[in-house]
Amino acid sequence: MSVSETAKQKFGVVAIVGAPNAGKSTFINSIIGEKISIVSSKIQTTRTRVRGVSIQGDTQIVFIDTPGIFKPNKKNNLERAIVYAAWESIEDVDQIIFLYDASKKINDETKALLERLAQQKNTPIILALNKIDKIDKARLLDLSKELNDLMDFDASFMISALKNDGISRVLEYLEKTLPEGPWHYPEDEISDMPMRLLSAEITREKIFESLYQELPYNITVETDAWENFDNGDIKISQTVYTSRDAHKKIILGKGGSNLKKIGMNARQDIEKILNQKTHLKLFVKVQENWMDNEDRFSLWGLSSKH
Ligand code: GDP
Ligand code: MG
Repeated sequence: MSVSETAKQKFGVVAIVGAPNAGKSTFINSIIGEKISIVSSKIQTTRTRVRGVSIQGDTQIVFIDTPGIFKPNKKNNLERAIVYAAWESIEDVDQIIFLYDASKKINDETKALLERLAQQKNTPIILALNKIDKIDKARLLDLSKELNDLMDFDASFMISALKNDGISRVLEYLEKTLPEGPWHYPEDEISDMPMRLLSAEITREKIFESLYQELPYNITVETDAWENFDNGDIKISQTVYTSRDAHKKIILGKGGSNLKKIGMNARQDIEKILNQKTHLKLFVKVQENWMDNEDRFSLWGLSSKH
């Protein structure tokens, strides 16, 4: 790539913040055009951070979501750690999108969150009122005004993530406002990125299912290798990262039996989506302090190599 081309590039990390069921996953899916986030009407299904990478003209945008931020119960240490990690994760993003379910009334939780967001002084925050297909226009304008009174948003948008309405205006805005900087992903890596992320997400879901959610949030899954064979088979290698040896033991189970079950369940789901024979290899690694800054890029699935 020539220098002049690089100079034009823009890059930004955008965090989507919103209550459970506000439509964060749907929003990101409508941008990426692939089923990356696991959309569910169940609360808090999304646990990992990177949701997708999108290219708008010269701008590459990495979307992350922040599942821990809406956690009303801050009494126990684990919950506190989750909330803390969620806020930490948005500290150095370039833009925050506050996604709000327009069919919902503003409550104390919304107000508390906006107050806390207002402390995030260096990060521009925009409002995206979602699910506008569900309510009438007059109510929308009132709601937009009410929210803008509570917080000084840099811009406000009205969207329906489900009907793909208004999304392009948000993207155009991001394209205009994100800073100049080199892309983090080479273009040829992006094509299988959605499936890499989705398959990691599936494995993560299977881990949580198998452990009945006993384990805390600090598990990440990364897809390390993705090979397409000539006969149509696909081989995927993934690493499960956890911060404690005890967690590793639980994930593995007796003689690796639990990991085997997790791998089998994940493989079946991935196979259904890809419609190709899939081989899935899982590793479990203990990585202490995985929330530290140094590791952040790899957590996001961003390689610091680029
Ligand atoms: P998340 O918890 O914030 O990630 O929310 P999801 O993306 O999982 O969405 C929660 C529910 O709201 C799902 O049933 C979605 O289909 C629905 N939903 C999301 N966006 C819209 C929208 O624009 N309009 C309507 N009517 N429903 C939506
Ligand atoms: Mg979600």
